[in-house]
Amino acid sequence: MDDSDPMPPPVEGGDPACWLPSLCANCGAMIEGPPGTACWRCGGTRREGDD
Ligand SMILES: [Zn+2]
Repeated sequence: MDDSDPMPPPVEGGDPACWLPSLCANCGAMIEGPPGTACWRCGGTRREGDD
């Protein structure tokens, strides 16, 4: 029988990756971060779901 060791993938703690990147409502730049993060390019607001 072939006994290959089950190698668990290395868990590299990096980014939470819980937030989906949004687009700036102003210039269309991709903004990553928690809701409310201002656009890094123009300082505008993210394009959240329409309310
Ligand atoms: Zn912008």
